[in-house]
Amino acid sequence: MGITKLSLNPRITVRTSAAPDPEGKCVVYWMQRAQRALDNPALDTAVELGNELGKPVVAFLAPAPFCPHANLRHYSFLASGIPDIAEDLSRRNVGFVLRTYPDHSLIKFCEQVGPAIVIGDENPLREAERWRVRASQQLSVPLWTVDADVVVPSRLLGKEHYAARTIRPRLQELLPQFLSPRRAVKARIPWKKPRTLQSLSAHDDHTARWSLERSVSPVENWQGGTKQALRILTEFVNRRLQDYPEDRNHPELPGTSRLSPYLHFGHLGPLTIAHAVLAASAPAAAKQAFLEQLIIRRELSVNFVRYNSHYDSFVCLEPWADRSFAQHSADRRPILYSEEQLEQAETHDPLWNAAQKQMVLTGWMHNYVRMYWAKKILEWSPSVATGYQRAIWLNDRYELDGRDPNGYAGIAWAIVGKHDRPWFERPIFGQVRYMSYASTSKKFDSHQYIEKVRQLEASHV
Ligand SMILES: Cc1cc2nc3c(=O)[nH]c(=O)nc-3n(C[C@H](O)[C@H](O)[C@H](O)COP(=O)(O)OP(=O)(O)OC[C@H]3O[C@@H](n4cnc5c(N)ncnc54)[C@H](O)[C@@H]3O)c2cc1C
Repeated sequence: MGITKLSLNPRITVRTSAAPDPEGKCVVYWMQRAQRALDNPALDTAVELGNELGKPVVAFLAPAPFCPHANLRHYSFLASGIPDIAEDLSRRNVGFVLRTYPDHSLIKFCEQVGPAIVIGDENPLREAERWRVRASQQLSVPLWTVDADVVVPSRLLGKEHYAARTIRPRLQELLPQFLSPRRAVKARIPWKKPRTLQSLSAHDDHTARWSLERSVSPVENWQGGTKQALRILTEFVNRRLQDYPEDRNHPELPGTSRLSPYLHFGHLGPLTIAHAVLAASAPAAAKQAFLEQLIIRRELSVNFVRYNSHYDSFVCLEPWADRSFAQHSADRRPILYSEEQLEQAETHDPLWNAAQKQMVLTGWMHNYVRMYWAKKILEWSPSVATGYQRAIWLNDRYELDGRDPNGYAGIAWAIVGKHDRPWFERPIFGQVRYMSYASTSKKFDSHQYIEKVRQLEASHV
């Protein structure tokens, strides 16, 4: 495929329209979000370009310690995925250079290796987009970025969608075009690292030296990396996918895939998961229920963050919710907790406390209790704005999959009714859907869930 044809791929954004520098010595893949060498459209683009230009390809990964709300818990997970990246890249003849703060500059790296072009991957969050804009202004060679972590390129949706029911038909229409498996093409010209070029070893634990926010400890129950993600995927597809429609709303059971941290860090791509699910022997209804979450709900979240600049503030709300909250802003709030009480799981509600502890102790919370957890934060906070910020802060701080479009969309759904519809009027919530301990407990065995978390807590003491 020619370079011009490649640049027209809807997954690719050409940030600088100039042609690749014919004098360039290589193609650089600036790996940020898609931290894998398998099913990675950004890496595939770099390899295709390298082969077309007759140049080697090198991936550059430089985790910076100042990602907002990220702490030792997140960086430890990220670091545990690095050996798989190095190994899988070398199988594709692609070089790997790992650096860290204060040597994390892409621009300096490019000055050292002299690329013909730089290919980056995309993440709809505003800080990452700012870095890409700055890089495109500072690089002396073209920068293209690739929407590598969604099945359907998010730009094809064109605008913010109102709900799953509006985005679903559009995604379903586009899916046949983007669901085909990707071939892991090898770089024809292997990368040879210049002897003087500095790179850290992919196998050392560098987090000890990284200057990080260290107040949240790593979680031993999670191991990052593509290999581990594939093991979890295989186990889920073989043993639990068939019961997914019934079990997915039961936090007391191991019913869901628990792949969200791997998707968040890009250790696994959504297409790999979708293909494993489609190839499974599970009933069609189970596959459909799972793909509804993996593709429709997840890509609705990406759409929300890409097209709504207020994605992490209550200001993202729809006019009906705005009007409704305005009518209820003076409502009496009989139970109020401070941020510290919430963080320490010191409320009167054993289910909420269990959910908070599951998140703090294990770095993950079940979807059904996440909904309840966020709605109670609204109920127990002095205002919608405060409740919203508290939910984002706790979610981003403790969940391994936090700081993700799914988190911002999930909190927006729970607290301000985003992607939902108006329900019956009630105090504090107005027309935003309400959940109570009694109604939630009817859906699953809340005692068993609370007991499970209690045992978990005992094992952590
Ligand atoms: C208040 C609240 C906060 C949330 N915070 C996050 C977050 O920080 N990060 C995060 O990844 N998800 C978040 N979610 C969405 C959802 O809870 C998780 O994606 C899911 O629980 C992850 O577990 P799993 O991988 O076992 O999911 P599975 O049920 O196995 O689903 C497979 C994949 O589909 C996607 N998915 C599943 N449910 C949803 C959903 N409701 N919306 C969008 N995508 C979904 C996820 O990528 C998930 O990994 C939040 C939801 C709510 C209500």
